[in-house]
Amino acid sequence: MTIVDRIAPSKGRCNGLVVVNKILTLKSSGRRQLIDLTSEVTQFVRNSNVKDGICIISVPHATAAIIANEHETGLLDDLLRKIEILFPESAPYSHNAIDDNADAHIASAFLGHSRTFPIINRELIRGTWQNIFFVELDGPRSRRDVVLQAIGDD
Ligand code: ZN
Repeated sequence: MTIVDRIAPSKGRCNGLVVVNKILTLKSSGRRQLIDLTSEVTQFVRNSNVKDGICIISVPHATAAIIANEHETGLLDDLLRKIEILFPESAPYSHNAIDDNADAHIASAFLGHSRTFPIINRELIRGTWQNIFFVELDGPRSRRDVVLQAIGDD
C-alpha cells in the first residue's frame, strides 16, 4: 500500500451531531489490487472524537470499490481471481467501443462504492477478520481518493 497524501480534513456539526471528513489519496500499482485501509480508518475514527455513530468509507470513482474481509494473502489472491472470473477483462462489452474498461465499471457496480461501520465508544466496530480494503479495478492510477466520514455524538 502506498498512501501518498492526505487532504481536506474538516469537522463540523449537523443537527447537533459531529461530522468529520477526511480524504485519503492513494496510488495503485496494478490493474486490480487490494489496498488495506484498516489502520487509516481506525485511526481516523479515534481522532474524530465521535463517541457513538457511523463511519462511511466511500470512493468517488466508477472503477473502484470498497470491501471488508480477511487480510490473508491466499484469500486476497482468491478474491482477485474471482473478480477476474466474474468480470473478465476481455469480453464483448459495448462500453469498450468508447473506453477499454467495461469490466472495471461492472465490477465496481457489483462490489459497491462504499461500506458503513458502526462507531461505539470511539471505536470502529468490525470483526477480527474484517479488514477494510480499497479495490482497484482499473489501475495502475497515480491518484485515487477514499472519502472517510464519521458522524455521531460526542
Ligand atoms: Zn470507462
